[in-house]
Amino acid sequence: MKVAVIGAGAAGYFAAIQVKHNFPNAEVDILEKTNKVLSKVLISGGGRCNVTNAESSQSTFAKAYPRGKNLMKKLLKRWNNQDTIQWFENRGVDIYAQEDQRMFPTSDNSESIANCLIQEAKSLGVRLLCKMRVDRLEPATDKIVLHFSDDRKVYDKVIVCTGGSPKKSGLLWLEDLGHEIVDPVPSLFTFNIPDTHLHKLMGLSVAKVVCRIPSLKLSNEGPALITHWGLSGPAILKLSAIAARDLAITNYRFDILMSWSHEVRQEVVFGQLQDIFGRQPKKKITNISFHEFPQRMWEYLLDRAQIPEHKICAELSKKDLNRLAHTLSNDAYEVHGKTTFKEEFVTCGGISLDGIDHQTMQSKAIQGLYFAGEVLDIDGITGGFNFQAAWTTAYIAAQLQ
Ligand SMILES: Cc1cc2nc3c(=O)[nH]c(=O)nc-3n(C[C@H](O)[C@H](O)[C@H](O)COP(=O)(O)OP(=O)(O)OC[C@H]3O[C@@H](n4cnc5c(N)ncnc54)[C@H](O)[C@@H]3O)c2cc1C
Repeated sequence: MKVAVIGAGAAGYFAAIQVKHNFPNAEVDILEKTNKVLSKVLISGGGRCNVTNAESSQSTFAKAYPRGKNLMKKLLKRWNNQDTIQWFENRGVDIYAQEDQRMFPTSDNSESIANCLIQEAKSLGVRLLCKMRVDRLEPATDKIVLHFSDDRKVYDKVIVCTGGSPKKSGLLWLEDLGHEIVDPVPSLFTFNIPDTHLHKLMGLSVAKVVCRIPSLKLSNEGPALITHWGLSGPAILKLSAIAARDLAITNYRFDILMSWSHEVRQEVVFGQLQDIFGRQPKKKITNISFHEFPQRMWEYLLDRAQIPEHKICAELSKKDLNRLAHTLSNDAYEVHGKTTFKEEFVTCGGISLDGIDHQTMQSKAIQGLYFAGEVLDIDGITGGFNFQAAWTTAYIAAQLQ
């Protein structure tokens, strides 16, 4: 049996290795259009490769995929984060979990992951063919013909692992075969907010916020980071993933409401302020500790609510308290554009999951053709979920069922 794996990324390498493991006598080629392999693995997670996530509940794990949740829930039963960790550990690459559940090789160097995959593929006899861009794929009786610019090769089975394409035009060769393409749009980005006052807080993080996009009725909570161009951090990145498709339609111009105090009900925050100020009536308002905000943040919020710094708590009127409660619970900003999150950027969209057999990852249109990795309409939030989708879908596709 001759098997072609198109693309030498995480999904391609893992699929090729698993095919060789399942079918030791098969001839397995990885066809890569560039002269580099595993480029994204190498730059991923800031050069550390966030290889998976430590979340132990599979249903919670599956919820990390705004696109592909239901399919991932099923597939994770067959290859999950524990399997990934074990697989690398069995090959001498230990993996550890950070406090935020992101998992990295203990070397904190993505080369450990890349080298492990390269070594394993080599020792199993997988053939790597670089500078081989597949332009077209043509089904023939029981075979699949791959066309290159000046060559063609015939295989029994083909696994497409070509990764995300930022434009639909990059997927037309797969659409031509009868696959529906879900329009690709970016996911995992930060929000640009042209507000110089906010920018002055750059580098500051707030442990627990709620961020909401009222026009889309979408919200998320978690830590937020203020940058010199706007807002970032896990809460924002996850919101960008959840809302990826809707935000593309707005051309990344929308309003966001920040609940810095993690409480969206203004009247509740009002009560909290009344209570804390009532207990320290003579204290200067700037010296109050509320929600353990860093001092700079607290002063910024007071200023935004137009509360003069020199006031003591007892001097605040009901109107003042209401304005401050409003700022803490429903602080509105206009978002003008997005910035790519360089640590872990993905494309939402790709090959529609409707055209794929969910048991096998085989194309419903063409027998012997399989898909794995980011080329599929599956993408996760930040935290190692995208690599896990690559390992899982590659493992299933490589069964060649
Ligand atoms: C900067 C950055 C950091 C990231 N960090 C993380 C992280 O820490 N954790 C995480 O979970 N996710 C991370 N991601 C996302 C993750 O890298 C991807 O989801 C994952 O690499 C997808 O793997 P893949 O094999 O499907 O595709 P890719 O890694 O994109 O590989 C596809 C390969 O196919 C080749 N190819 C494409 N078309 C053809 C063709 N026609 N013929 C031949 N070859 C072709 C490409 O050249 C490429 O080598 C990061 C992404 C980026 C951009």
